[in-house]
Amino acid sequence: MPSSSFAHKKSLGQNFLINPEVLRRSLEAGEIDTDDVVLEIGPGQGALTRSLLSSPCRFVHAVEIDERLAEWLSPLTREYHERFLLTWGDALHCDLTGLSPVPTKVLANIPYTITTELIWKILIELAPLGLRRLILLVQKEAAERLRADVGTKDRGPLGVTLEMMGTTVPVMDVSPGSFSPPPKVWSQLLRVKITEERTLAADPKWRRLLASAFAQRRKKLVNNLLRAGFQRELIETALSVAGIDSAARAEELTCAQ
Ligand code: SAM
Repeated sequence: MPSSSFAHKKSLGQNFLINPEVLRRSLEAGEIDTDDVVLEIGPGQGALTRSLLSSPCRFVHAVEIDERLAEWLSPLTREYHERFLLTWGDALHCDLTGLSPVPTKVLANIPYTITTELIWKILIELAPLGLRRLILLVQKEAAERLRADVGTKDRGPLGVTLEMMGTTVPVMDVSPGSFSPPPKVWSQLLRVKITEERTLAADPKWRRLLASAFAQRRKKLVNNLLRAGFQRELIETALSVAGIDSAARAEELTCAQ
């Protein structure tokens, strides 16, 4: 259980899970089996890590930035040294492609400040290597943005990419009281299954297209693409082939379009 003497760092999003039901549902959503190699980002005081290590999974990697948590995590590295590897460092700057064995699933209760950047990094580096699933506990608002429908203002590059690569579904809403200390807002547990387009997020052309298309939300897609340097003739041909209205905004387009 989390220690009350630990000075939680707000800047690192240190709200540790204390609700066993959320732990149980996270593992259930992961459908962890004996072939799985799970990467946990930010193990904290090890609540999810311990559940994972008690599951049948083959191997667990964890990346944690705050070395003050060694008091909680080092006993796990000793007890499970054959199937648990802990790396100290910033998950945003570590080379996930170098993890061996290669992760098949990611499980993370991630600080909201790094949610978008971290999910991109995971998709870019691990999806091409065969990552099949992400179980993410994120701020409810962020979760809703990731699943935003066509035509809503929350639709954005990462949500569109996730939709292209598979399915993202909410597993459960999680109350502030499920964490210690409690955050100010609700969270949501998400399950992302990656089934298609494994190399899409890693494609710089795809990312450039999305960044350009969504650059200025109030502007038409055409104008955003022109500003990004795409040629007018090319844009007009592409829109007409895809049956897209020349006045459309990026968030109004379906993935197929
Ligand atoms: N998994 C634990 C749990 O559920 O109780 C802790 C979750 S807590 C919300 C987020 C964890 O991520 C903290 O342990 C924090 O130190 C760690 N963290 C924050 N930023 C990080 C980063 N850039 N790289 C790795 N770990 C990070």
